[in-house]
Amino acid sequence: KGPDPDIEIVKHKLLSVQHIILILSGKGGVGKSTVTSGLAHAFAADNVQNVGLLDIDICGPSIPRIMGLEGEQVHQSGSGWSPVFVEENLGVMSVGFLLASPDDAVIWRGPKKNGLIKQFLRDVDWGELNYLLIDTPPGTSDEHLSIAQYLKGSNVDGAVIVTTPQEISLLDVRKEINFCQKVGIPIIGVIENMSGFVCPKCKTESQIFPPTTGGADKMAADLNVPFLGKIPLDPQIGKCCDEGKSFLREVPDSPAAKAYHMVYKKI
Ligand code: ADP
Repeated sequence: KGPDPDIEIVKHKLLSVQHIILILSGKGGVGKSTVTSGLAHAFAADNVQNVGLLDIDICGPSIPRIMGLEGEQVHQSGSGWSPVFVEENLGVMSVGFLLASPDDAVIWRGPKKNGLIKQFLRDVDWGELNYLLIDTPPGTSDEHLSIAQYLKGSNVDGAVIVTTPQEISLLDVRKEINFCQKVGIPIIGVIENMSGFVCPKCKTESQIFPPTTGGADKMAADLNVPFLGKIPLDPQIGKCCDEGKSFLREVPDSPAAKAYHMVYKKI
């Protein structure tokens, strides 16, 4: 039996992409899409780099909203689908662009989801990219297996795992790490999001999700994977996400924006 033709097609299509990075989380709601968008902006702010953001969180594509692209649709180009550009060097493709309305729940079954993932990996015309960030669904599902399978042979650097400091989220990080090890995806590192909150009035820092056994940094050390940094809980992040604005541009001097720049440099 020869190589799977789909893997070969995806590989060929993504030859013009230097680095592919998957963003994973064990749970929904930990800020995976927010972190993916923030990292995409941070990479793109480094002028010379061409960046792509692919959102294949099929059941809850939130990238169009966060990137200010709600209502956009997939455009056909000569040889595939064209990304929608938020900046000259930052293109986005999302499952959300295929939905007639943002409220449409995507409740497709497995084979259809896998077909769609394949199509997204195979048919988007990214052009020359330095970085392609892929926002995946939460957990480890069939979709992740498809992604891992189709990307065999492409330039996958590895996975970034997003968690909150909360125990229940940290426990799932182990599952993500196990999954990556099983399918042979290297682990770039773990990011702790929603880590601490500084009250804008009294300036005191509080832990919203106090970890009982140490935070993501301790877990990463225990599991022998790199820890990439902490991003604080900042109401401005939520506000910018809702308004589809770049948090890094709106509040560049905030501790959270600085944290993004520091984290991205470690990737
Ligand atoms: P996921 O992709 O993991 O489901 P989202 O990125 O959609 O999670 O984030 C969930 C919610 O939390 C969103 O409303 C988002 O604006 C908010 N959020 C994420 N990270 C932060 C943060 N560091 N500070 C404040 N709000 C955040």
